Amino acid sequence: MENIERIERYKFDVVVIGAGGAGLRAAIEARANGKSAAVLSKSLFGKAHTVMAEGGIAASMGNVNDRDNWQVHFGDTMRGGKFLNHYRMAELHAKEAPDRVWELEAWGALFDRTKDGKISQRNFGGHEYPRLAHVGDRTGLEMIRTLQQRIVALQQEDKQKTGEFESGLKVFAECSVTKIFMTGEGDDRRVAGVLAYWRPSGTFVLFESESVVIATGGIGKSFKVTSNSWEYTGDGHAMALECGGSLVNMEFLQFHPTGMVWPLSVKGLLVTESVRGDGGVLTNSEGRRFMFDYIPDVFKSKYATTEEEADRWYTDPDNNLRPPELLPRDEVARAINSEVKAGRGTPHGGVFLDVSKRLPADVIRAKLPSMWHQFKELADVDITQEAMEVGPTCHYVMGGVEVDPDTQAAVGVKGLFAAGEASGGMHGSNRLGGNSLSDLLVFGRRAGQFAAEHVDEVRGQGKQTHVSEADLQAALDWALAPFTRVEGESPYAIQYDLQDTMNALVGIIRTASEIEEALVKIQELKVRMANMKVIGGRAYNPGWHLALDLPKQLLVSQCVAMAALIREESRGGHTREDFPEMSDEWRKVNLIVRAEAQEVTIVKQSLPTMTSELAGLFDESELSKYMTLEELDSLVVRTL
Ligand SMILES: Cc1cc2nc3c(=O)[nH]c(=O)nc-3n(C[C@H](O)[C@H](O)[C@H](O)COP(=O)(O)OP(=O)(O)OC[C@H]3O[C@@H](n4cnc5c(N)ncnc54)[C@H](O)[C@@H]3O)c2cc1C
Repeated sequence: MENIERIERYKFDVVVIGAGGAGLRAAIEARANGKSAAVLSKSLFGKAHTVMAEGGIAASMGNVNDRDNWQVHFGDTMRGGKFLNHYRMAELHAKEAPDRVWELEAWGALFDRTKDGKISQRNFGGHEYPRLAHVGDRTGLEMIRTLQQRIVALQQEDKQKTGEFESGLKVFAECSVTKIFMTGEGDDRRVAGVLAYWRPSGTFVLFESESVVIATGGIGKSFKVTSNSWEYTGDGHAMALECGGSLVNMEFLQFHPTGMVWPLSVKGLLVTESVRGDGGVLTNSEGRRFMFDYIPDVFKSKYATTEEEADRWYTDPDNNLRPPELLPRDEVARAINSEVKAGRGTPHGGVFLDVSKRLPADVIRAKLPSMWHQFKELADVDITQEAMEVGPTCHYVMGGVEVDPDTQAAVGVKGLFAAGEASGGMHGSNRLGGNSLSDLLVFGRRAGQFAAEHVDEVRGQGKQTHVSEADLQAALDWALAPFTRVEGESPYAIQYDLQDTMNALVGIIRTASEIEEALVKIQELKVRMANMKVIGGRAYNPGWHLALDLPKQLLVSQCVAMAALIREESRGGHTREDFPEMSDEWRKVNLIVRAEAQEVTIVKQSLPTMTSELAGLFDESELSKYMTLEELDSLVVRTL
């Protein structure tokens, strides 16, 4: 048993869980609003998915094509999400993204430039104009570097004011959060802090705070073939559920069309969409550019139908339609899946992606340095000379913590906020490439601002915020329980089976019978997990770390499977073989997941109705492909 008296304790105004783009931006904003903030990161500082982002940040600055503006970006985002996005989040995102990119530049980010010295922007799937601000194919690295630099600058200011570098902003790396604590009853129930442990030593740390921001990223590590790394076990999603919050859109997972398929040891590793944005074409084993066979009706008017027109678009985008390789990711992933299934795949079970015939070798090496290096080192393939083999990989979760669109406050839990990939609603059923990095900045900033305001609100009411010793003791006992079991199996075996189950039965193409089978298996895994044991001590013990993550993984996987079973249509990242069409009726519905004592329930909730002003940005003929007549009438689109 842990001695509570000896536990390391801190008091901050705002605790941010996660040091990716969303977490760092939230912490900077909380500090800018005069609050002390702690940033907790499961991995090393700087090691987050944000740093792995390759292609760029979507923002309608109009630097490469001055026809771009927030309205076009908003329209593309809604189309990409198949109109299931929270319209208000998509609106705020499109309006504020340019300011967030310029702010990043003011803080020291060195973006690639256009010939006339502006921030360069590149093409990406689903974006009407070149829109992604980028730094080669290492944009995330520059973004994280800049946000970290900003934190250091603020710490230097704090040193001058208080004599202490870390008085306003302190980073705790390799410090994993296992629990969010609550205090108060009824209307006064609110967040009180979090419990974390130092990964190297295995000792516990208690943080008390009025506000907590969840910025823990995605859930992709529950799938076998994934671009996600070990941290992405859905901790924030699960902890939000456990303290009374809800999740939205959990059935929508993005399977990125292009992951490496070979060598097996790196199967799933991402091949950035920039390869297609910069001219890469997809072909099957017969040499056919198959994407022309897969342009869905809703996108017919926006994509080229012949190779000649698609090729002309690269030099004359104003007078030609885009190549279908640049359709939104869900469409391209399904098309690749169908080609491989039809026996037209490559030797290693993917399709070919070739940029070598479009661009000279030195340009490829300059524009796609990481991709060149990745293929050369891992597969001995020189992408300046030959094609890559690629196939779908689990990449991103559109679903996440249900939040207020303006403040990022978690629905139903006072003092809890969520931003970035851990929050839901913004991307609807499918995210456009580049829209995550901009989402992190726009909503990370908002989360930090409103988390700071919440601190004033609580203190203004004269309330104290403390974690009860009983709650702390219970959380410690839970965390240490795997050491107390004599019999039982290793968490690795259970995680392996979960990844297999999710990949095979709740993957890119789904059917009711397979999802039901997955739910039975998840229940069996839960039984096995209740008896899971770990060996060794608490100092750097990855088996124990996994034992703490696994319950969260299983809970979130169950949410994904249950929501996937209920939604009887195919839309964006959710494809049901038994319900292959999009349904106007289902488009009006969000599935909201809650969990009480690990018992998961799902209710249907109406999607908020888009304002007439925003609806007026689309042609009625386009909206009618997604909406019922009744809805169209209620939007008064016709009179605009
Ligand atoms: C290979 C790759 C390439 C990508 N390229 C692009 C791109 O070009 N453009 C784009 O827009 N998007 C891209 N994405 C998606 C994008 O990078 C992510 O969606 C985004 O970075 C998520 O940011 P975040 O701040 O929400 O979380 P992350 O950056 O994932 O950070 C999460 C943080 O939470 C921490 N954490 C998790 N659980 C805990 C816990 N229990 N306790 C403490 N800390 C915890 C982690 O350690 C980490 O610090 C890419 C993703 C990948 C994997």
